[in-house]
Amino acid sequence: MAPLVDRFGRTHTDLRVSLTDRCNLRCTYCMPAEGLNWMPRAEALTDDEVVRVVRVGTQRLGITQVRLTGGEPLLRRGLPGLVARLSALDPAPKLSITTNGIGLARSATVLREAGLSRVNVSLDTLRPERFAAITRRDRIADVLEGLRAAQAAGLAPVKINAVPVRGVNDDEIVDLTEFAAEHGYHMRFIESMPLDAQGAWDRDGMVTAEEILDRLGERFDLVPVGRQDNAPAEEWRIAGTQAVVGVIASVTRPFCGSCDRVRLTADGQLRNCLFATHESDLRALLRGGADDAALEAAWRTSIAGKGPGHAINSPEFRRPQRPMSAIGG
Ligand code: SAM
Ligand code: SF4
Repeated sequence: MAPLVDRFGRTHTDLRVSLTDRCNLRCTYCMPAEGLNWMPRAEALTDDEVVRVVRVGTQRLGITQVRLTGGEPLLRRGLPGLVARLSALDPAPKLSITTNGIGLARSATVLREAGLSRVNVSLDTLRPERFAAITRRDRIADVLEGLRAAQAAGLAPVKINAVPVRGVNDDEIVDLTEFAAEHGYHMRFIESMPLDAQGAWDRDGMVTAEEILDRLGERFDLVPVGRQDNAPAEEWRIAGTQAVVGVIASVTRPFCGSCDRVRLTADGQLRNCLFATHESDLRALLRGGADDAALEAAWRTSIAGKGPGHAINSPEFRRPQRPMSAIGG
């Protein structure tokens, strides 16, 4: 099998699959209070179609990791069944999920038994009122319960994702890290990106990796761990403990040069970059009776057209048409 290599020599092994663009939260840095015009259900790939695309990825293109995301992937009906089918593929990908954690308390064990290995749970604050202000829903208790359930189910390591926003939750960088360390979760901070649906992102509101590390450095002695494989997070261990804290500096320290990711939207569009402005319509191929070789060819063509990196820091930068929640974060 020829690996999925682009013209810059990057080998793509990691597929992010968005299972829905819908969400039960309304995080302010992601979407407006009223939500979005959700994609009609008939436009979303069926389970059979998702399994087929992933099978082509693992059997013909060298995909080894699949992360399920959204929108909120736990809202996908029949998710454990889909996870079981994906984990029964030969070769099977390593399966993980990024979720806001609502409903995870109910589903963690079932998902683990179906073949899920790891989970990232988004949690931007430990304060209930602040959680309600950021997500516009009073659901922090469900998220905390979801975290505990994920850990008890053996979805290890459980990672917490937080997006610090200036004047909103940037005073909790140390608190969140201490909370994660105490409970055996890995903490990861993500620089906010210009991918919110309402176009309100501004550079001044973004808390940079440097600032995050300064705050952490005031409280902890950090031992560099580096990057795991091609992961976007740069990691540190808190000296004298097993606690790990990571920072994803997509804006100020882009990692495009080692990007190994490709994305599939819930409506079957293949994207070679989070910031891509062009998509490849795999759904049309799937529904038009294309064979596996045609799907493989479309996928290789998409990767062949991948650019060197996003241009957030250049004046030519254009936002992609879809927001993060419709691409799959
Ligand atoms: N709903 C799930 C969740 O929140 O984990 C999965 C989808 S969400 C789009 C995936 C990740 O993207 C979350 O960790 C979220 O915090 C992050 N995210 C959303 N909007 C973002 C933005 N504008 N900049 C940076 N990260 C963002
Ligand atoms: Fe929903 Fe995740 Fe976006 Fe929050 S970040 S609104 S949980 S998709």
